[in-house]
This record gives sequence, structure tokens and C-alpha cells, in this order.
Amino acid sequence: MSERNSGLYEKALTPLMKAASVLNIESDIVSVLSSPERALIVSIPVKMDRGKMRVFTGYRVQHNTSRGPTKGGIRYHPGVCIDEVKSLAFWMSIKNGVVGVPYGGGKGGITCNPKEMSQGELERLTRGYAAAIAKFVGPDQDIPAPDVGTNAQIMGWFADEYYKITGKHLPGVITAKPLSIGGSRGRGTATGRGAFFATLEAVKTFNMSLRGARVSIQGYGNVAQPIANYLYELGCKIVAVSDSVGGAYNPEGMNPTALAELKTKTRSVKGFPGSREISTGDPITVDCDILIPAALENQITEKNVNDVKAKLIVEEANGPTTPEADKILHEKGVKIIPDVLANAGGVTVSYFEWVQNRIGYYWSDEEVDEKLKGVMIKAFKDVYQTAQQHEIDMRTAAYVTSVKKIIEAMQALGRL
Ligand code: GLU
Repeated sequence: MSERNSGLYEKALTPLMKAASVLNIESDIVSVLSSPERALIVSIPVKMDRGKMRVFTGYRVQHNTSRGPTKGGIRYHPGVCIDEVKSLAFWMSIKNGVVGVPYGGGKGGITCNPKEMSQGELERLTRGYAAAIAKFVGPDQDIPAPDVGTNAQIMGWFADEYYKITGKHLPGVITAKPLSIGGSRGRGTATGRGAFFATLEAVKTFNMSLRGARVSIQGYGNVAQPIANYLYELGCKIVAVSDSVGGAYNPEGMNPTALAELKTKTRSVKGFPGSREISTGDPITVDCDILIPAALENQITEKNVNDVKAKLIVEEANGPTTPEADKILHEKGVKIIPDVLANAGGVTVSYFEWVQNRIGYYWSDEEVDEKLKGVMIKAFKDVYQTAQQHEIDMRTAAYVTSVKKIIEAMQALGRL
């Protein structure tokens, strides 16, 4: 297990414990909520391009099925381990409850480095993984999607393998597919778009201003690039960005489209013209107004939290703030849009895709955007009102709103 993830699952449960004390939930029920219903570990033998076999380990965790089939992405990353996937699946249960999509939480992953694999190897790995978990996924069972290190093409291979194994064309088995095979309009930018709507609500609620606001982003990938564009269009300055290779800092601001183009060309934002070079972790502590951690978990920690200068943190990554750091930020009065709310636009449009796949009728960009906006504004307001009502922070409030829905569903089913 990598250092980043040691004790991760325990940490992931911290806000659940807080929510449980707000709601007076008994410890036996907390232990039910803390235990994933199913955790699969599979071996995936893959013939590599050089002709040798290599065995990869894959995971799929299904946390809770009381509100619907489980739903959540698949991560391809060298740091993937069972504790990480369990945490991510648990967070999906909470997230799905926060935005009210009718799913429980699931997550999958494969310990691998996709950046060092050829397209052929990635395709064989994906098909092997799909075959290994095929019995446990399906539109009414568990519905994967992308996460760190995976993309629409990987979703396409997964769907194809599933169709072949089951003999059925069931596009609702996986979401964020390419448009040509039943993907939804707006899914590619959905996480960023959702985080943007939540940010607009936060700015209004907390009496902040976006004009001239300095934005710092850790992890300039698929989820960060859209929000950078939307904020830039409203007059924000993108002062720092980074990725796994390095980062770029310019207090005068940088053009998000030019940054994305450089990243596509060279795989990194490092060396952006006119910028000063910074490290992958530096965006967390640079002088800025809005901080967007959009990479991996455990990035804002006890070690760097006292150097955080942002007034608002929009958590596009899952679990970027450790419980210790979270407490300090709260005490300092830093506003946080917690991950389970801020990045929920992705799974919301995944839900729209699944609905469209089931009815076989597809919506326009405008329809998707309007519906996403409605969901994000309502979720933000619900969480904010809960925070006010119980005098708690936004993260605990998000857990309170969601845990209530999960417990209600479990009781209605007679599971508690
Ligand atoms: N992996 C994304 C997340 O963490 C998307 C999940 C989905 O679309 O099902 O929310």
C-alpha cells in the first residue's frame, strides 16, 4: 500500500462519524454503513506487446445497494489498492445521496501505470477486467464509469466485452461512453461544469467575487480543464496549475486553453511560456483566492495546511483533504465545497446517460446542462441549509443529508 493511502479507509469514515453524532445514529448502524456489501479482487493476466504475460490486480467494491444499483468509476493508477477503492466506493454512496441520483456507491480500479502501456495493452487489460467482473456489473447491478487514468475509449472496450459476454446490447452497463455508442452530451465536461455551478452558488452564498479572483489548480486533467475555462470566462485569473510531471505559476494569470494545448502536446503544463516552474504539490500553498485540488486524495494534510492561503476550496478530486487538515481549515474559516458535492456533476450526467440509454431517447446539450445546473444548485442549497441548521461545516452537512437518505432507504427495505 502506498504511503499516500495508509489508513485511508479509516480517514474516509471520519465525516461519517461526525454525521452520525449529529443525527444520533447508533454505533451498530454506523458499522453497517462502514462495511461495503461486496469487495472483489481479481487477477487479470494480459499478454504484453513483447509477448510475455503479466498479471494485474483489479478491484471492484460495491458499498451499498439500498438506494439503487451501485455506481462509480474505474481508476487505472499505480497506487490503486483495496483500501483506496473501498474509500472511493464509500464516497460514491455519499455523493450519490447528496445529489439524489438513485444509486448506491461503487468503485473499481486496477493497479497499473496506464501512461507506460500501449493502446493494445490497455485494451486487453480492460477486456480482461470486464470479463473478470462481468457477473457482478450491469445496468441494474453496478454501473462503472471513468476515474483517474481511464477515459471514454476504455468505457467503449468495457461495453463491447460486456455485450459479447452477455449477448445483449445494454449500453446502460457503463457511462461516459463515446457519443457514437450511447454516451451523453455534456458528460466529458460534466464534473467541471458541476463544480462550476457549485462554485457560483458558493460565491453568492459567501459574498465573494469572481472578478479578478486568483485560482490555483492541482491536477490539470479532464476534470480541472473545463472549470478553469468557465472561471476564466468570468474574469478569474488562473495563477497556478500542476500535473504529475510538474507545474506552472504566473501571478498575472495564464490562459487555460493554451495550458491545455501544451499539456496535450507535451503531457505536462510544465514550462508554460511566461510562467515560473513549480512542483506538483505547490498549487496547494500558492497565494490565491480559490484552490481547486483536482488530482488525488490526501493532498491537503497536516504538513501543508497552515500554508494554504485560499479562502474557498473546491474539491474536484475525491478525498483531497485529510480529516486533520479539514479541521484546521474549518477553524481558520476557510470555506470548502466538499468533494461529495463539488465533483458530483460527473456522476449526475452519468445518471442522465443511463436514463437516456434505458429509454433510447437522447437529450441536447442544453437539456443536459439545464438539468445538471438544477441538480447542483439544489444539492448546494440542501447542504448549506443543513450546515446552518445544525451549525456544522459543509462536509459534515453533506454527509448528514446523504446518510439520512441511505438510512431511510435501508429502513424502508427492512434492512435495518
Ligand atoms: N469517477 C467519477 C466520480 O468519482 C464519476 C463516477 C460516475 O460517473 O459514475 O464521481
